[in-house]
Amino acid sequence: MSAQEYFDQGELVAVLTTQPLDRTLDYKAPEGGCFLGAFVEVPLGPRKVLGVVWGPGQGGFDLAKARSVIRVLEVAPMREEMRLFLGKVADYTLTPMPAMLRLATRAPGLGDPPSMRKIYRLGDAEPDRMTDARTRVLEVLRDYGGLAFTLKELAEQAGVTSSVVKGLVKQGAVREEDSPRDLPYPRLDPDLPGKTLTGDQADAVARLQAGQRSGDYGTTLLKGVTGSGKTEVYLEAVAEALRMGRQALVLLPEIALTAEFLTRVEARFGARPAEWHSGATMTERRRVWRMVGQGEAQLVVGARSALFLPFRDLGLVVVDEEHDTSYKQEDGVHYSARDMAVLRASICGGRVILASATPSLESWANAEAGKYERLDLTSRFGAAVLPEMKPIDMRTEQMQPGTWISPSLRQAVRQRIERREQSLLFINRRGYAPVTLCRACGEQIACDHCDARMVEHRFLKRLMCHQCGETKPMPDTCPSCGVEGKLAPVGPGIERLAEEAEATFPEAKIAMLSSDLFGSARALKAKIEEIAEGDADIVIGTQLVAKGHNFPKLTLVGVIDADLSLHGADLRAAERTFQLMRQVAGRAGRADKPGQALLQTFQPEHPVIRAILSGDEEGFWKAEAAGRQAAGVPPYGRMAGIVLSGPEVGPVFDIGNAMARNDAPLRAIDAQVFGPAPAPIARIRGRHRVRLLVKAPKGAPIQDAIARWIAPLRLKGDIRLTVDIDPQSFY
Ligand code: ADP
Ligand code: ZN
Repeated sequence: MSAQEYFDQGELVAVLTTQPLDRTLDYKAPEGGCFLGAFVEVPLGPRKVLGVVWGPGQGGFDLAKARSVIRVLEVAPMREEMRLFLGKVADYTLTPMPAMLRLATRAPGLGDPPSMRKIYRLGDAEPDRMTDARTRVLEVLRDYGGLAFTLKELAEQAGVTSSVVKGLVKQGAVREEDSPRDLPYPRLDPDLPGKTLTGDQADAVARLQAGQRSGDYGTTLLKGVTGSGKTEVYLEAVAEALRMGRQALVLLPEIALTAEFLTRVEARFGARPAEWHSGATMTERRRVWRMVGQGEAQLVVGARSALFLPFRDLGLVVVDEEHDTSYKQEDGVHYSARDMAVLRASICGGRVILASATPSLESWANAEAGKYERLDLTSRFGAAVLPEMKPIDMRTEQMQPGTWISPSLRQAVRQRIERREQSLLFINRRGYAPVTLCRACGEQIACDHCDARMVEHRFLKRLMCHQCGETKPMPDTCPSCGVEGKLAPVGPGIERLAEEAEATFPEAKIAMLSSDLFGSARALKAKIEEIAEGDADIVIGTQLVAKGHNFPKLTLVGVIDADLSLHGADLRAAERTFQLMRQVAGRAGRADKPGQALLQTFQPEHPVIRAILSGDEEGFWKAEAAGRQAAGVPPYGRMAGIVLSGPEVGPVFDIGNAMARNDAPLRAIDAQVFGPAPAPIARIRGRHRVRLLVKAPKGAPIQDAIARWIAPLRLKGDIRLTVDIDPQSFY
């Protein structure tokens, strides 16, 4: 790299700021100069803003007018590879660079001088009297050879109260010091003994580690049924990265999953890794961000945005449950963390492991095409076997109106209760009932701001809009015809199903798991742990339960409506149903008892339902791939979703129509435009929404064409345009 790496005081530098400007700004390097990539504070009008030194200044104006960088922040400069990565993500997702920089600096107070706090180390004196608790504290300090702890960390590690530590401080056996708040993370030891791997697992580990040692970029699809030991396998790849002195990142789709995983990391490596997710406090986030940049966090476990942390030497990214839709960010920067993980690793010579029992068709196709290596774990660990899967044909079941648990399913649940095993009833709908209907006039209660029905939440005693979150009390009279006492719930949600289960199985203990029923991630975690320990006969859950939780006593999964997601307009409807049903079914029979999954369906002959039941995954994917290939849709063609929105529908449509007419840049790459059409949810938060869809052949430069297509647009008033490359949802 021949670019200038250092700028002397007074030299002109170009600074990328987090402010919404379409270019870098020139400033004079401050006293002492600055490095390329340095995080700086610069004046912008009357304000001070965060920026990064992006290169030499552009000049071309009166140098006497140039202002100076105010100061260089005390954090590691942004590495070249990170600048490259941000630039490529910006190009891929059509995102302005300032928004990329905001994504990469999402930790408050980055530039603040380090604040101080108390830390604790091994002292010189012997305590006057030894107790078990004191011995444990000193052992922890000795074990970690000179490392310092916060009071809370030390007390937790040793399993003692903080007063025990304080007592040792008085005696001089433990030293208390002031230290900057952002401490390095405890070292993880990859050479602690791991579990004894099965033959399959050991083979997979050997292949992964050989790839890592090559030092080149590579992506592996690690496919294995739930419970086959994928986590055990990728932990060994993490170990290898640590041995090589490189950093590792494990992405999980759901915060509630991190607790279990952190415990496994601690058991394997002797300490806890850094955590990055929305549940972390601001100080924790800042500590992670800084320590990652200094190479003093070896392993980060986190949500998708952890991909934008300033790793010093990222050797491995694991994307667990890689098919999960939560890896796609759908507001702000529209990016897929799975795809961008591959991009980042290809820039920094790292490895990617995509782990799933039910991979996305995208990853499956990349493995077929030889772009990704593929490793399969085919059997469950130990005695656990895959659940038997059977349909319950709802056309022949005797159902009472307003009930959803069929006699066959009821009988299966009863059996489990008698055997003191757990059952899971799965329904992918939050709330009590999806529709509240007036039996007098037929009105369905809708949100005032969105084109969406309000969902009754009995738990909250309110109606809620799942689009904008607006709630209102349940009315007594119909808002449309004014008739009283005729409002009725239609269809089941998780709360209504729980009500039915309580009435049907009065002797059973029932637990509900739905993301909206818990005030905090912590409360949810606690509930999951309780259930795992067996404190429920029947678990009633939404999508949340499909995501990798381990419930050893669970031997029956009943899917209330297997047809529910089959008929979406979404091109991935079949794939999603297949993944979800197999994931949910995989919750049964994880320990020593065999499991069973029963799918209530009105269409047992539907090809997707048949594929789910038969477990012929390769067959399903081949058929799905052929269908998409024929239609020229992803992953065999490219797509971009455009959403225009504004307070008035007319002007929004006018722009959409103008875009559809002036599609020369798209035609130039053989792309087609569909729309404008009202979006499936035509109004959200009072804004009218209009969609266009761009379809292009695989390999076409779709971003470039779209950039040229939208460049001449002048959006007036409050009209907004968003571009979603490789859209996952089409609402
Ligand atoms: P997956 O990630 O594929 O769902 P896990 O890695 O969570 O599977 O493994 C399922 C369960 O089996 C876990 O409790 C795990 O600790 C255990 N397990 C898997 N492989 C081994 C092994 N080789 N030795 C001991 N326990 C194992
Ligand atoms: Zn709403």
